Amino acid sequence: MYYVQSICRKSLRFLVAIVASAGLFSSQSSAQYSPLSPPPADLQQGFDSINVEQSQEWLGILAGPKFEGRGTGQPGFIKAAHWVAGKLAEFGLEPMGDNGTYFQMLPMKRRLPVLEECYVTGPGDLRIEAKGNMGFDRFTDQQEITGDVVFVNFSGENTQLAEDVQLRDKIVVYVDDEKAASSAPFQLARQRPLAAIRVISGRPVSSPQLVREGGRTRSTSVSGTMTQEAARKLVEGLGGKADWLNKPEKESVEIHDTFSPAGAESPISQQITLRMRFQEELAAAPNVIAWLEGSDPNLKHEYVVIGSHLDHLGNSRGQVYPGADDNGSGSTAVLNIAKAFATNSTRPKRSVLFIWFAAEEMGLVGSRHYCNNPTKPLEDMMCMFNIDMVGRNEESKDETSEENEGHIHLVGSQKGDNDIHEIVLKANESVGFEFELDQEGVWNRSDQINFYNAAHVPVSFLFDGFHPDYHKPSDQIEKINFKKLVSAAKLYYLAVNLAAEHGRFKPNPENEK
Ligand SMILES: [Zn+2]
Repeated sequence: MYYVQSICRKSLRFLVAIVASAGLFSSQSSAQYSPLSPPPADLQQGFDSINVEQSQEWLGILAGPKFEGRGTGQPGFIKAAHWVAGKLAEFGLEPMGDNGTYFQMLPMKRRLPVLEECYVTGPGDLRIEAKGNMGFDRFTDQQEITGDVVFVNFSGENTQLAEDVQLRDKIVVYVDDEKAASSAPFQLARQRPLAAIRVISGRPVSSPQLVREGGRTRSTSVSGTMTQEAARKLVEGLGGKADWLNKPEKESVEIHDTFSPAGAESPISQQITLRMRFQEELAAAPNVIAWLEGSDPNLKHEYVVIGSHLDHLGNSRGQVYPGADDNGSGSTAVLNIAKAFATNSTRPKRSVLFIWFAAEEMGLVGSRHYCNNPTKPLEDMMCMFNIDMVGRNEESKDETSEENEGHIHLVGSQKGDNDIHEIVLKANESVGFEFELDQEGVWNRSDQINFYNAAHVPVSFLFDGFHPDYHKPSDQIEKINFKKLVSAAKLYYLAVNLAAEHGRFKPNPENEK
């Protein structure tokens, strides 16, 4: 996802208007900004049921150790999905997944290497068995890759591969120290090698990879680990020097190979072949879906969708990514909204569909699956509200977190019928956010896009902007701004109610006859 530049890119016109109205109406509870007016009386009950305390409790569970970063296809995600379903049953909301359950299963498969049948062969009788010597955490569909080997040694925090380094289609075996460990894999990935194998002192482990049934893996290169002993056998088997694997004296990036003239006494073709075998097993990865039936017998077949992705990066190479903001905050906000609808005695005329998507981090897979396999007719869908990251203040080298307190991005709400944008502005009169409309760059980077393209309905995406902990293990609950999370939930609770009254919207420009 992209970053936006400094305040000069902000729509100053917009900012000024909001600032002028701040403080006109003091907030009802601490978890709000400067609302202009109280919420409609018949929605007050639901509105007030959305609060910081339950949000802290729920996000503490969603981003807690038990759910291990909610990686799709991993046990942590299944636990999170069952926990959300348990809350929905508690609220008394109707299941709207497969076969009367809250779950809509995605056809996913878990692919695992069969280490006993994986090995490396090379010149002469060089052969290294993978079992006990190697581990894999990303692999392609190819069962065999052959290429020249390049040894790379990263040392130091800011050391970079030189501009002229070409590692494309090479098999890279690399060493890195703690300082270089976070950037080395990304530097190598940008080079598009056939494989990037990290030499480690510990025991190599493999992690399963999720693929769509009948689908291809998304990886373009193999990545894994190798023991120091096996790496030494490889370097010597290729006629190189064992000290190529030693930590360089000074902070630098050292590159060695045995096929280019400079690298060896006698340049010989030193290609190796990595042979891999996989096994596949079904992987349970559900969207979690619930329904609140509308009060009007003639209109209750029509519905408004509110969604957020539940998954995050999970446990990757032994590192857990809690995803408190991405998207623990959105999942918690939608859970607050679900409870508010269940609590409020007045129901909207039209119905509401609540969805917690799986596999968003894998490429918006859960929302695409829902739109291709809707559990309610797409033609009865009025519009879609999406929440992805609403628990932090935008923060970058140009903007401080403080200056973004009370700010939030509204994305895509002016792409279709502008009524949905007006509805959010109307709802905001009772919440008091300062909207920024300059993040259209992320328009196609979250689940709303599938609804806009497949269901042809207008959408509105709420997003807090980027911050330094985005997609890092440091995206933790301690840094969450619960005032913003609760305000986002209150905003969309009112907006969904307004949309459920509004009814059908004009078709998106792309779908106008
Ligand atoms: Zn996200």
